[in-house]
Amino acid sequence: MSTETFEFQVEARQLLQLMIHSVYSNKDVFLRELVSNASDALDKLRLAKLRDDTLDADVSDLHIELEADREARTLTVRDNGIGMSYDEVGQLIGTIANSGTAQFLKELKEAQDAAGAEGLIGQFGVGFYSGFMVADEVTLVTRKAGEKQGTRWSSRGEGTYTLERVDDAPQGTSVVLHLKPADPDNQLHDYTSVWKIKEIVKRYSDFITWPVRLVGEKDGKGDDGGTAEPETLNSMKALWARPRDEVSEDEYHELYKHIGHDWREPLETIQLHAEGTFEYQALLFVPSHAPHDLFRQDMRHGLQLYVKRVFIMDDCEALLPAYLRFVKGVVDAQDLSLNVSREILQQDRHIRMMQRRLTKKVLSSVKSMMTGAPDRYATFWREFGAVLKEGLVTDPDNRDALLAVASFASTHEDGEAVTLKQYVERMPEGQDDIYYITGESREAIDNSPHMEAFRERGIEVLLLTDPVDEVWVDAVGEFEGKRLRSVAKGEIDLDAREDDKSEDELKQQAEAYAGLLGWMRERLDDDVKEVRLSTRLTRSPACLVADANDLTPALENMYRAMGQEVPHSRRILELNPDHALVKGLNEAYTEREDRSELIDTAELLYTLAVLAEGGRPKDPARFVRLMADRLERTL
Ligand code: ADP
Repeated sequence: MSTETFEFQVEARQLLQLMIHSVYSNKDVFLRELVSNASDALDKLRLAKLRDDTLDADVSDLHIELEADREARTLTVRDNGIGMSYDEVGQLIGTIANSGTAQFLKELKEAQDAAGAEGLIGQFGVGFYSGFMVADEVTLVTRKAGEKQGTRWSSRGEGTYTLERVDDAPQGTSVVLHLKPADPDNQLHDYTSVWKIKEIVKRYSDFITWPVRLVGEKDGKGDDGGTAEPETLNSMKALWARPRDEVSEDEYHELYKHIGHDWREPLETIQLHAEGTFEYQALLFVPSHAPHDLFRQDMRHGLQLYVKRVFIMDDCEALLPAYLRFVKGVVDAQDLSLNVSREILQQDRHIRMMQRRLTKKVLSSVKSMMTGAPDRYATFWREFGAVLKEGLVTDPDNRDALLAVASFASTHEDGEAVTLKQYVERMPEGQDDIYYITGESREAIDNSPHMEAFRERGIEVLLLTDPVDEVWVDAVGEFEGKRLRSVAKGEIDLDAREDDKSEDELKQQAEAYAGLLGWMRERLDDDVKEVRLSTRLTRSPACLVADANDLTPALENMYRAMGQEVPHSRRILELNPDHALVKGLNEAYTEREDRSELIDTAELLYTLAVLAEGGRPKDPARFVRLMADRLERTL
């Protein structure tokens, strides 16, 4: 049979280089990765056979075998699972399709030092390639279930690999690691040592539901180096079926790492045993970090679904609502058909029941975190708050539970995040509404002109900077009878204060400005539906506000980005009658016959208001010309 040589894809080569010169101190995890792959392969074969019993494959003794050879310095990880075809080997092993790994490499390049790199390796499972941390050559022989011919893949990890068809490959996959030379000073890293192998399997792979057997160990010391009886190293217990007090945190965490493809500890472990007519067990995990693709359309999410301990599918989305898409875990149901498909799942009554129950369970765990472990809650909210808030819009049934665990940045002097309940509790006498401001960033809204009067009066305003905030505030509308009100929408009538203008003064002012306001409205007709005097400005000359039920510019942009037609909505321009620029403009307007010069100033004033809320001038070049012209005159 001919051997073909291929080049690794660029990313794959980078990853391999990293493994070969690994800075990662915990090399033991390579075995977890290979056992994990083998376990998945066995799951897949059992399911394939269940769905098609004519498939030519033996499923009577599915298992994983480890074999160490001290003299040859090899360690073999073998499974009799689904295997891979010739093409699949090239695709799956020769390239990096996993977007998470690509992201990992990108971040790695940005990490400056070794410590940073090590931290990153710890965050991403790097799968099969991790074998190159301990081996200088890896050979893989595999045969896909149902096919006659097998494939041998081999590489020293240096840029190329070879593929060759083989005739006598057994069912499944075996991976032979040609281990790097032993380090005489560090016996701890001898992966041919029985003791070492047992320890690693126990630590990382105990819950694997297939037997992991150690076979034919030749230790080079025995009389004949003979073959001992295979020994099963793992307990194979389904953790989700065991009472919580019998399972250690470590065991749960290892299961999480296996199913979550995460090398870090989870933030929270949640267990649920549902009894009754429809029985199931669930073991859920909240990760400690948001995945990088949390807001991407193509993010893979969902729980693992088992039926009576038989693995049915990964990424079962129907079990949790989209706003809990970061939750990982396993659900094992008693009475579902093994043949359920994704399409059926979406409509299944039992699945919907499970979804409701699991959702409530997750939300109540977040609630307990909030009251019992504020630091962990803070981490949770920082990582996942923006996703959870989607539920305020999409899941009215759980809205109250979601509002109870939601917290927001605020202008309150203690600088702490606040819940709506806390906000309402500390609302001063006379304040009827919950005030908020939305915007792209904390800086942009902190200094927004809309905030001036609120700051001055010390009225607390919630600072909302996630894109979803624009949407849920409208959907929710009120909390405990208090309206949620944007400081940038509608008329604001804050409580009167000592130094406020009297009714009479206000009336006079309104009369004095009436002409200018009407004239400006006409000039700015394209963009502005009303020009009025402001009660919310103290330092800035002008700002734009929307009517209470108008779309905000951010929402308009969002809809456009989603490809929807949105009419350009005109806003209200508010002027600060106490600002020198506005005063001056009014004087000029009243005194002059020829107002052509003033048109530019009116336009500039409007554009300044656009800029102040983080918007873009409609015609930036024109704005720059006008501005430069004015500045020149000040010299
Ligand atoms: P990951 O497991 O994260 O997908 P790997 O690099 O470990 O990444 O493996 C890539 C793919 O190769 C797997 O998703 C699987 O399809 C295939 N694969 C790896 N090991 C085996 C195996 N023992 N049997 C069958 N397929 C395997």
